[in-house]
Amino acid sequence: MTNGCIFCKIVTGDIPAERVYENEKVYAFLDIRPINRGHALVIHKHHHADIFDTPEEDLKDLMAAAKHLAPVLVKTTKADGLNIGMNNRGAAGQVVMHAHLHVIPRFVNDGLRHWPGRQYTPEELKLDADAIRKALK
Ligand code: AMP
Ligand code: ZN
Repeated sequence: MTNGCIFCKIVTGDIPAERVYENEKVYAFLDIRPINRGHALVIHKHHHADIFDTPEEDLKDLMAAAKHLAPVLVKTTKADGLNIGMNNRGAAGQVVMHAHLHVIPRFVNDGLRHWPGRQYTPEELKLDADAIRKALK
């Protein structure tokens, strides 16, 4: 529990939420401002701010819970598809600084659009791939 963290408070019951799943490690509840109905958030009971400070084990717990929820959300909402997303840091749209996965039912005609792609120049493509490969070594 981290002081002032609303998601930690949801886990402890200090802030109400519509819990849909829980095990000893993770907690999942409905987003109060859903992109579509059935939009769930999966959080770890350990407080970590984002992917950068979440241990791999805890990320596995989050994804395992998303895997568990995915077919159930699709079935209950009669969705045609499902997005799983994670915003990390403010620049990426993260507002609540307790790492979480968004699990979002999608419908063929829900009017949402995918992120816009842009054109890579061949030089940039190579430059970026080289830099990432080098940093991973
Ligand atoms: P993010 O932008 O990735 O940090 O997403 C935070 C999400 O948490 C938003 O989609 C909010 O609608 C949702 N949210 C914030 N407070 C609550 C709450 N008390 N109960 C449920 N969802 C919440
Ligand atoms: Zn927290």
